[in-house]
Amino acid sequence: MKEIVLASGNKGKIAEFNAMLAPVSVISPKDLGLDFGVEETGKTFFENALIKARALYELCGKPTIADDSGLCVDALDGAPGVYSARYSGGSDADNVAKLLKTLEGRSDRKAHFTSCIVYYDGERTVEAYGHTYGEIALAPEGENGFGYDPVFVSDDLKKSFGVADETEKNSVSHRARALAELKIKLAGFGV
Ligand code: IMP
Repeated sequence: MKEIVLASGNKGKIAEFNAMLAPVSVISPKDLGLDFGVEETGKTFFENALIKARALYELCGKPTIADDSGLCVDALDGAPGVYSARYSGGSDADNVAKLLKTLEGRSDRKAHFTSCIVYYDGERTVEAYGHTYGEIALAPEGENGFGYDPVFVSDDLKKSFGVADETEKNSVSHRARALAELKIKLAGFGV
């Protein structure tokens, strides 16, 4: 069976990638006894995903995939974007608090999540994107998910990702959409 190493140690992510890319088997660097980490110095989601996919390939010599994602707010010219995880310098709750404060009094609250996934096997670089659209709520709603989920009200679901359950979120998420596109592209390469 074809094996691809994912540049992440997150169990939920590994399970999601396995479910979407089956029958390809997605394993973690840890499964190979590797300790993987690299600085995300890119200015775009693609650059960061490529940095991770290539660095992991150099380390393990097997086909790799890496993803990078974030929240882009229209009224903030796409911020926090690639800096989503580091927006406030603190926790997820601090990031949410900073975002709500920055948008205080603003009526244009349109936003989207973007996910870029890159596959690299030493020869081929394949990239796939997924987006999901919504609006930033005035206050957090629900406790499901992570990151900005409680303040992201999905256009598709008509409720926040913090209220939606995992199955609902996965049916419309940026990551699931990028994975679906990647699967089609990889099939075109016979992977
Ligand atoms: P990563 O590239 O998947 O690690 O995501 C970077 C950051 O973007 C996370 O730390 C979150 O702040 C934000 N983010 C990405 N995807 C999501 C999501 O599905 N829900 C909420 N926040 C997200």
